[in-house]
Order: sequence, then structure tokens, then C-alpha cells
Amino acid sequence: KDFRNNVKPNWCPGCGDFSVQAAIQRAAANVGVIPEQLAVVSGIGCSGRISGYINSYGLHGIHGRSLPIAQGVKMANRELTVIASGGDGDGFAIGMGHTIHAIRRNIDVTYIVMDNQIYGLTKGQTSPRSDLGFKTKSTPEGSIESSLSVMELALASGAGFVAQSFSSDLKELTSLIEQGMNHKGFSLINVFSPCVTFNKINTYAWFKENLISLSTVEDYDPENRMKAMNTLMTYDGLVTGLIYQNKQKPSYESMVKGFKEESLASQELSLKKEEFEQLAAEFM
Ligand code: SF4
Repeated sequence: KDFRNNVKPNWCPGCGDFSVQAAIQRAAANVGVIPEQLAVVSGIGCSGRISGYINSYGLHGIHGRSLPIAQGVKMANRELTVIASGGDGDGFAIGMGHTIHAIRRNIDVTYIVMDNQIYGLTKGQTSPRSDLGFKTKSTPEGSIESSLSVMELALASGAGFVAQSFSSDLKELTSLIEQGMNHKGFSLINVFSPCVTFNKINTYAWFKENLISLSTVEDYDPENRMKAMNTLMTYDGLVTGLIYQNKQKPSYESMVKGFKEESLASQELSLKKEEFEQLAAEFM
């Protein structure tokens, strides 16, 4: 059950993504899967490298497309536990359409977004999660676009599992990833994961000062969608914990009529070897 491999991450020292990697490895061990039962699919960005740093099946996909690939993996082999991952630029800019449709489709994939509110890999440009007035090379006079309210958007889109955490809080993050992996349907976990090299505003200290734990919100009930929305709007989305869970929402897989019990990946190929080779040759 060891999800560590011997690849050394090349993230900058202090990058929040190290903790996200550790949390995924711990959560996977805690839910009781083995490396051969886990697939991690990532997009492009610093965080996209994570699929190569975990001892499991891994696929480092293309920009903004970790979700279509992850959903395909799950549909082909439902015996796998599937994690999709990437950054806020990957998931909430180029990949936003996929995010919304994955939420409403509800295939059993856990989507972990490493949200550093900037594009790190391309050396520091404003992202859809950057705050109004945020200065970078792409907005030298300050961003005049407001930050995308992703948690509110997920709730409004009918998400069955929405959570948010901070990479420094390894205990909470691990627990939320475990809950997401155990949830039967799509789960979105947004993780504030500081980019220590390019984002000098949203630092570890800034998050420690500004994040509110839902455990401190009076009578908070993660099954109450209205309360969840209200709380997010009250604290401008800066909350951590399990924001909302609807255990009754049926997963996509459970709704597909005639979906065979046996995974596609374990079924015999109906094509003979020669037919398959002929078909493959046509694509060469
Ligand atoms: Fe992390 Fe930022 Fe360095 Fe990328 S540039 S590895 S996000 S600290």
C-alpha cells in the first residue's frame, strides 16, 4: 500500500503541491486501495506533474483535459479509483467547460484542484482565481476581472460533493480526499496551494489569516445546500472543510441502462487478433 515512488518532484521548495501529493498518498492508503487500483490523471501546469509522483497508474494529459480523460478511464474500468488533478488555470480557465459538465454528469471521479491563484509554470500570469487588482506580468496595472467563485458555481451546478482545504492542513486535506474518494459520484476538492515563487500576495501567512474553518461556523450542516451557499457568500468563498455533500444523488454509472456489470477493460476483445491488427494498421 505504498504510494510513494522514487521520482523526485521538481516543484520549488515550499510549493504547496508537495502537501497535496502527500495527502493523496495518505488518503489512498487510508481508503484501502492498492497502487494497481488507483489512477491519477492530471492536466498541464506545475500541479500537472503530480501524476508522475504517485505510485499508481498515471497519465499526464493535456491542458484543461484531465477530466474528460479521467471520466473515460472510470467508464472503461470502474474497478479503478480515479483521481483527476490540476491547477486553477487548468481546471477553471481552459478546462472550465469540462469541470461544469463533470459536476452535472456525476461520474465517480475525485477532482483535486491545486489553486494557487496564478499561472506558475509559465512564470506568473493572472488566472481566473486571481483577485481583483492582482498585479502580474499579464496585468501590470492590476487585474480588472473579478475572481471566479468556483465553490458557489459548483453548488449551483448541482455538485454532490464540494470541499475546500489548505495545503498546510495535511490532516484536514487527507480526510477530505478520503471522503471524496469514498463518495459515490463526482467530488470537487479545491485546495489553496500557495505558489511561493510567483504569488507574493496569497501566501501561507495570508491564508492562515483569512481562511475560516467551517467547524467554527455555528450550526453548519454540509447537507444543507442553502446554508452552504449562504456561508460561501458570507465569507467570500474563503472557507475550509466539507462544504456540501448529497449522498442521495445517483452517480452517472448507476443510471446508465444496460451498463454491463463487468468493466469494459476486463472484457474479452470481440475482435480476432488479425482483425485488430488490420484495424490498427488503418490508423497508422
Ligand atoms: Fe509551485 Fe509556483 Fe514553483 Fe510552480 S512556480 S512549482 S506553483 S512554487
